[in-house]
Amino acid sequence: MPDVPDPAPGRPAPGHDQPLAPATIAVAAGRPAREPGAPVNQPPVLSSTYAAGGPVSYARVANPTWTALEQVLAGLEGPHATALAFASGMAAISAVAELAPVGATLIGQRVAYSGTRGLLTRWHGTGRIDLHEVAPDAAGLIAAIEAAPQVAMVWLETPTNPTLDVVDVRAVADAAHAAGALVVVDSTFATPLGQHALELGADVVVHSATKYLAGHSDVLLGAAVVADEQLAAQLGQHRILGGGIPGPMEAWLALRGLRTFPLRWERACANATELARRCVGHPAVARVRHLGLPEDPGHAVAARQMASFGAIVSLDLVGGAEAAEAVAAGTTLWLHATSLGGVESTLERRRRWPEESPDVPDGLLRLSVGIEDVEDLWDDLRRALDAVAP
Ligand SMILES: *Cc1c(COP(=O)(O)O)cnc(C)c1O
Repeated sequence: MPDVPDPAPGRPAPGHDQPLAPATIAVAAGRPAREPGAPVNQPPVLSSTYAAGGPVSYARVANPTWTALEQVLAGLEGPHATALAFASGMAAISAVAELAPVGATLIGQRVAYSGTRGLLTRWHGTGRIDLHEVAPDAAGLIAAIEAAPQVAMVWLETPTNPTLDVVDVRAVADAAHAAGALVVVDSTFATPLGQHALELGADVVVHSATKYLAGHSDVLLGAAVVADEQLAAQLGQHRILGGGIPGPMEAWLALRGLRTFPLRWERACANATELARRCVGHPAVARVRHLGLPEDPGHAVAARQMASFGAIVSLDLVGGAEAAEAVAAGTTLWLHATSLGGVESTLERRRRWPEESPDVPDGLLRLSVGIEDVEDLWDDLRRALDAVAP
C-alpha cells in the first residue's frame, strides 16, 4: 500500500500550522511516497492476489489504488474521516443500510434518489427493515423520529434529488441521537466541498462518486465516509463479504478525476447560479429551484450549513411533462441523458422514470450544469425554452 502521502490530508504540512485546504488535498493526497524514481501517480494495480506475507493478500480485501483514492476522499471530508470506496453509490448505500439490525425502524424521505428509495422499499417489503417515508425536510424527519417507539437509522439526502430540499442536518442529528439512532447523509448533491455532513452531526456520509467527484461520466463509484473507527471496521467487513468493491481501473479514473474536482465544482456552481437567475421570469418556466437563488426555500439553511450552492437547477415548466420533454429533446449542446455531475451539461425530465417519487412534479426538468461557457449554455437552453413558451 502507498505510504500516507507527504503532506498528509487534513493535517498541517511540515512547516505549516494550517490544515491543508480542500483544493490542495485534492491534488496532494493519495500520492506514492516521494522516493527517487517513484511515480508521481498511484498506478492502477491489476492483481487479484498478492505474494504471501505482505500487507495485502487478496483483491477483495484491499487494493493500493483504492487506498490512494480513499485518502483523497477522507481528506476532503474532514481531518478525522475514514473513507471506504465501493463499486457504485448504490453498493455504498446497501453496505451502509446493512448497519440497521433486522426488523429495525428506518426513517427516510418521500423524495430522494429513486435507487435508494427502491432498495429501502424492497427491504421493507421483505421485512428486513420497517421503513417510514416522510416529508423530506427537517420538520418531517424530526416528527417521525419522535413518533416512532424506537428508531435505528435516519437516512437523509440534502439537498434532495431532484427537488433540492435542504435538511438542517444538525437539528435532525440531535433528535436522532437523542433517540439512539444512526444518521446517514447522502451528500452526493453537495459534495465534500459543499458540505461537511460529519461535522454537522452525521454518523455516515455516502457519495455517488460517479457524479461530481469522478466528474467525467466515465465510471461508476461510491464512497462511505465515517469518523468512528468501529463503524469503519463494520463497513469494511460488509465490503469484504458483500463484495461490492471498486475495480482498480475505476478507482484510478476517479482519483484522476478528483485532481481537478475543486476547479470543476467552482465553475459548475457558478454556471448553475447564473443560469438559474436567467431562467427566473422566463415565460416557459413556472418555478426555478436552485439553492443560490435568495428566494429559494432552501437558501437560508443552505447558506448556513453549506459552502456552495451546488450545480443542479430544477425547472418546473408551465407546459408540464410535454414541455419538459420538448425542451430535453430540443437542445443541441445540453445532452438529454440521465445522471449528473459530469463536465458536460445534461438534462432530463425525472418523472420519465416510473420509479421516481410521485411527489416530484410531472414537468420537472433536472439540469446538471457542467463547465462549458455559460453563454453557450444559456443560448442553447433559452432557444429550447422559447420554443415551448405559451
Ligand atoms: C446517482 C445517485 C446515487 C447512486 O449512485 P450510483 O453511483 O449510480 O450507484 C445515490 N444517491 C444520489 C443522490 C445519486 O444522485
